[in-house]
Amino acid sequence: MATTAKPQPTMYENVKNQFEKAANVMGLDETVKKILSSTNNEIIVNFPVKMDNGTVEVFTGYRVQHNNVLGPYKGGLRYHPTVDIDAARALATWMTWKTSLAGLPYGGGKGGIQLDPKKYSQGELERITRRFTYALGDNIGPEHDIPAPDVNTNAQMMAWIADTYMSTKSPAERSKNQHVVTGKPVGSGGLEGRDRATGFGVVVTLESWAKLRNTSLEGKRYIVQGFGNVGYWAAHFMNKNGAILVGVQDATGTIYNPEGIDPEALLRFQADNGTISGFKNTQDYNGAEFFGIDCDVIIPAALGNQITAGNADTVKAKVIAEGANGPTDTEGEAILLAKGIEIIPDILCNSGGVIGSYFEWLQNRNGEIWTMDDVIIKLRKKMEDAFNRVVISGGQYKTDWRTAAYIQALVRIEMAYKQRGIFP
Ligand code: NAD
Repeated sequence: MATTAKPQPTMYENVKNQFEKAANVMGLDETVKKILSSTNNEIIVNFPVKMDNGTVEVFTGYRVQHNNVLGPYKGGLRYHPTVDIDAARALATWMTWKTSLAGLPYGGGKGGIQLDPKKYSQGELERITRRFTYALGDNIGPEHDIPAPDVNTNAQMMAWIADTYMSTKSPAERSKNQHVVTGKPVGSGGLEGRDRATGFGVVVTLESWAKLRNTSLEGKRYIVQGFGNVGYWAAHFMNKNGAILVGVQDATGTIYNPEGIDPEALLRFQADNGTISGFKNTQDYNGAEFFGIDCDVIIPAALGNQITAGNADTVKAKVIAEGANGPTDTEGEAILLAKGIEIIPDILCNSGGVIGSYFEWLQNRNGEIWTMDDVIIKLRKKMEDAFNRVVISGGQYKTDWRTAAYIQALVRIEMAYKQRGIFP
């Protein structure tokens, strides 16, 4: 008899499952639970853009604003074929937990456009980005909703967003709107070190994990999925700790070398060739078996729903540091935890990015220019503090670190609702 395979939960279903679990463990106030179970606003814009060949294409852009009880909505913009309303809801909700856990004065938002940027020229991407910004209009704003880079968006695109948004304001208002977006280039209001903030933060959480387990990262073998902003910088700082990169997977291929892969040389190779495949002294590896590579640490730094019931039992690593958002689904997580594998959850592990964005926002708002040292020292302190709070909360509630991180985040939000009450 034919059996129908159980569909994999969507990213938003995963968030809801994680939220439900934490709400039950901590006994979250029912009203607060009801409010947080849906998003505040969901903006969908369809907008036309002129292509290089003279035709016009219509694109669909999303911005989901999950919650703003702690401050303006904050979260990235993603350009990828998998962007849809479910992904935007999930990613926006994770941002609410992440900013709360990090102790920032922000809520959560996320958005993007469903497209494959490789299919468009630089000029087309500029026009798409500017027209998307224009279509969003005052649904974003420096004290209302502040986007940032995510998958396939970068500092250049953030500069276009800032420039477009500022250009739509009256002349005297323009400069004070620069912090409508973070992750800008350093010459245009960006923060020294924002480029590496997420990857650096991932490694700070791994250093904290190593300390907790009375070990060090030196000599630890690790693999990275995704060799973009987060994946490369995480590898850069892992290697500074003496760890050994043995496998890398990205959208173009999967490579393996048990003797070690140099991330700096791989970055140059990728820039020259547009792929990681064929990098010297590495062998191509079966992509479907990537997470089963023999190693101590896995850093997923690409997309969501990568470690699932389908591959979790092949994992040999001791710890998974979630650089990506939502890389482990709830079924995959249950298998990992049963095997005693520790997970540093995304809302903690990759929060260096939004903390760096907060520093950039403060810098712009106060008319300051911070140095790289200012940023790295402050970022490390905030990441270590959050890691320790999650470990303590895990012990208090006798629960896994993801649930403990959620509880830390939810306690702050619950308190704000209790203090403020519900209007009117
Ligand atoms: P990026 O665009 O710089 O890099 C994405 C990487 O993922 C690329 O190497 C790409 O090839 C790879 N990839 C795409 N599809 C893949 C697939 N099917 N299999 C394997 N690899 C694939 O993006 P990024 O900014 O590094 O973001 C990576 C992850 O980190 C995302 O989940 C993002 O939400 C999360 N994140 C990013 C930041 C940030 O500051 N950029 C902050 C927090 C979390």
